[in-house]
Amino acid sequence: MLLATDMDPGFIAALALILGLLIGSFLNVVIYRVPKMMEYQWAAECAELNSVTAQPAEKFNLLTPRSRCSSCGHLIRWYENIPVLSYVFLRGKCSTCRVPYGIRYPLTEAVTGGLFFFCAWRWGWTMTALVWCGFSAALLALAVIDWDTTLLPDDITLPLLWAGLIAAALQWNPAVDLTSALWGVVAGYLSLWGVYWAFKLATGKEGMGYGDFKLFAALGAWFGWTALVPMILMASVIGAMVGIGMKYSSGLREGGYVPFGPFLAGAGFTAMISGPQSILQFIGL
Ligand SMILES: [Zn+2]
Repeated sequence: MLLATDMDPGFIAALALILGLLIGSFLNVVIYRVPKMMEYQWAAECAELNSVTAQPAEKFNLLTPRSRCSSCGHLIRWYENIPVLSYVFLRGKCSTCRVPYGIRYPLTEAVTGGLFFFCAWRWGWTMTALVWCGFSAALLALAVIDWDTTLLPDDITLPLLWAGLIAAALQWNPAVDLTSALWGVVAGYLSLWGVYWAFKLATGKEGMGYGDFKLFAALGAWFGWTALVPMILMASVIGAMVGIGMKYSSGLREGGYVPFGPFLAGAGFTAMISGPQSILQFIGL
């Protein structure tokens, strides 16, 4: 659709893999900085409410300042920032202070590369492949940010939701029509909103956050309303199993809270790769 359609599928997939590795490197920045940007924003808003003049903070966004070693402040040079390869050459350590970098960085890059490879291999050189690459990148970032911080930033969930509706309207996502996508958004949001309030009224506790409603609504936009039940079943079953596992291995964080977003994202990836209806077989229904 974009260019010649007679390009070698292997070549297209290899290109997508490289693009995915680079986007994965950017996602590492997103995952680290977006929650901090939200905190700074909240602090600035609180200061304004209290009529305190907030100190003009140093510019902090996705592009500035440049990445540094969080341990010694060593500025990361371009050749130390090549996805996966730099990690291997540096043996996972800072070149200056030798503090180990987490395996998370190359892993995020490799997973993004793999997802982009899949999309290009499955859908070829089309807008469909491109929009599913975008879906993958946003969903992966949300899953990791929620796991780390229990936040699902509106700056990612809402664009993901709108992109799903637009992809359906333009038929770039042939799996759903606009009507099914629209009702997917409505039912996705309202169903978890209802569960939230039922749980809160019954127990006085909050089982999930508004970010989960928006993420589920976004998944509704990408897969249509009929996919919501399989996806919520899968996310709940696996989430509960992991929660119980963490409880017994005392891996639970303070408050015993297991974020739900990573499990919704996992269901979303499964639906993308093998279709929403395959999920029911996957969880043995
Ligand atoms: Zn260092």
